[in-house]
Formats: sequence, C-alpha cells, structure tokens
Amino acid sequence: MGRGRHTVNLVAERRGTSDAPRLFIVCAHLDSLNSAGDSNARAPGANDNASGCASLVAMAHMLLNQRLLHDVRFILFGGEEQGRLGSKHYVDGLGREDRERISGVVNLDMVANLKTSRPSVIFEGDDVSQGVMDALVRAAATYTSLQTYVSLCSTSSDHASFIRERLPAVGAFEGQGDVSEDQRHRESDTPERLDFLLHREITVSVLVWLAEQVLGLEGRSVPGRIGRTTP
Ligand SMILES: [Zn+2]
Repeated sequence: MGRGRHTVNLVAERRGTSDAPRLFIVCAHLDSLNSAGDSNARAPGANDNASGCASLVAMAHMLLNQRLLHDVRFILFGGEEQGRLGSKHYVDGLGREDRERISGVVNLDMVANLKTSRPSVIFEGDDVSQGVMDALVRAAATYTSLQTYVSLCSTSSDHASFIRERLPAVGAFEGQGDVSEDQRHRESDTPERLDFLLHREITVSVLVWLAEQVLGLEGRSVPGRIGRTTP
C-alpha cells in the first residue's frame, strides 16, 4: 500500500442483553504481503492471515443463534503489514465509553502453519492483559491438546495497537519452531501448507474464551452450550 492508497477495516457487532454490557473484541488482519517480489507479486497469504480471518468467521458463525449477555465486535483490519495502520486508526478513534467497556481483545495472526513437532499455540500479551492470557491458557488446556506458551513481548501485529493504549489485548499465534520452512510473506503461503487440525484447535481455544465471556458461562460447559466446535 503506497502513498495515496486506501485500506479498510471491516467491523461487525453483536449486542448483549446486559444493562451494563462489557465489550469483547476478536480481530485479525485481512491484508497480505509478498516481501520477496515486486509490488505485483502474488501474496496469497493463506496462513498470514487468511487463517486468522477464517477463525474469526467460524467464531461469529458459532455464536449466531446465541443470546449474548455482553457485546462482541469482530474486526478484520487492513494495512497491518504496513505497520498496523488499520488497528492504530481504529484504536485512535475509540471513544471513552468504549475504552472503559473493553474487557478483552484477542487478535489471531498466523494460526495454521505447523512449525513444532507437537501442535502448539503462543499467547502474546502484556501485564495489562494477564487475565485474558490466563483464561486462554485455561481454555486451551481444558478443551484442546495444544501445548501452550505465553509471551510478554508484544511488539508485533494488531494487538500491540490496543496494548499501547493499555487495553487488555492478546495475540494468538501458532507455536514457533523449525519443523517446516516459514512461508510468511511469500508466494508459497498457500492453503495446501496449512494444518487444519492445528487451526481448529487454536480456534477452539479462543472460541471457548469468547463464549465464557459473552454468554456469561463461567464454570459451565461451553461446548455443551454452543454445540459442535469444529469450524
Ligand atoms: Zn500477519
């Protein structure tokens, strides 16, 4: 995206029934980049970041017929690869009321490339998002077979735009390793290189967290309430 070009954020919201609804956000970036070729080179972006977008759509679908207690926003950001432009713009435009209501943000970015021998997930946040990270780790441990890692070094991707403003955001990524060659920002980032079991497990982790929050289900069986968890 060069000078004078435009990008968009796509925002969808479901309202809860609470008199004092908290606000939860699930987001992913919609743009993709090929940093190896010229500006016309193909950038399929299957893992980075169609995988995160697909997780988000699956979660929105799972909550479709549920009566929500709290508000949820699903956001697909533009311009992430040029320096988180979409999320910075969005956070800059948040009003005081929304800022005070935001109780958790999870950003999915690259969640389907199996790079470790055992499927794993990294939750990346900051002290302001420790509670969200803890809940995500609990959800993954209870409902998936993923190995979980946490990181307090949140320098990359759109959750950093929220953390910069002291909003409780966490990034979810596939575990990092050297089992497969990294296809990020290359023409070879294509669907056949994705691991759909890993993708489903990371999606389930975030979906369980989201359902616990917006349905007010703390301590009750989440999959029993929302049904099948296969995206
Ligand atoms: Zn990305």
